[in-house]
Amino acid sequence: MHKYIISIDLGGTNTRITLTDLSLRIKARTSFPTRNFSSSRKILISEIIKEVFRLLKDNSIKKTQILGLGIGVPGPVDFLKGKIYYLPNIKGWQNTPIRDILEKRLHFKVFVDNDVNLMTLAEARLGAAKDRKNAVCLTLGTGVGGGLILDGELFRGTSFCAGEIGHMPINISGPRCNCGGSACLERYVGNKYILAEAKKKLKMRNINLEKLSEMAESGNKIARNIYNNFASNIGVALAGVVNLLNPEVIVVGGGLSFAGDFIFTKIKETINKRAIPIQAGLVKVKKAMLGKDAGLIGAALLVKESKLKTNV
Ligand SMILES: [Zn+2]
Repeated sequence: MHKYIISIDLGGTNTRITLTDLSLRIKARTSFPTRNFSSSRKILISEIIKEVFRLLKDNSIKKTQILGLGIGVPGPVDFLKGKIYYLPNIKGWQNTPIRDILEKRLHFKVFVDNDVNLMTLAEARLGAAKDRKNAVCLTLGTGVGGGLILDGELFRGTSFCAGEIGHMPINISGPRCNCGGSACLERYVGNKYILAEAKKKLKMRNINLEKLSEMAESGNKIARNIYNNFASNIGVALAGVVNLLNPEVIVVGGGLSFAGDFIFTKIKETINKRAIPIQAGLVKVKKAMLGKDAGLIGAALLVKESKLKTNV
């Protein structure tokens, strides 16, 4: 009897659910806009459960064929207790014991982790950091996230919240950040701050990141300057990370997928200038490989690896 894994990516915009086989190949998928069901936690959970059952039925798969379910969420998670601390972009999820809730309703093993951790795990096992023992992942978007692979395993920290590269302060003082701190990396390189700067400096009302990137690539000096600052700020933060953790590779994903290679070159140049030469010399900066499915693949990997470890 073939076994399968269910993966869920609970996102602020869309909730996506996949069925993968044990080789991590996606066999079937479904999704729905999170906002349509986010008026309450109960409604959203019911919709998730309904869609999981529908996915099984549509693919003629029995519950007994499910090895487990992995779910990635956009916020901090108590990994051991399977509990969401809170979700910054979805209201009403404080202290949600999501693992227990889903296990009670679905009757198969559930594992929950932060979405960036799961993307990091996927890139480390099958993507841009494959076969690397020490890797750092950085995701750029509205929020700036990070994940760490140390000695071949996800490093989660004491309360399972390690890796918040986006909330490393890069100046003594600076703009206030949503996290409660100030001068965090995210406040300099988060999508909306880059776009606000672009609108002001280019005097353009309608600009998006694709357009800004195109303008920079085709030699517009102002656009290029915005991207140079952006890459320098990332490079400075990563120079600290490189000195601290001595990784082999830094994988950059998220909002940079459309940006030109010059950003990666500039990030690496900054690391070379600002980090200690031994660490800086060996570290590679790579584009994430697995795209939007990284979190879903990571959720399946989490189930597979946790089941292998615990043999349950
Ligand atoms: Zn912050």
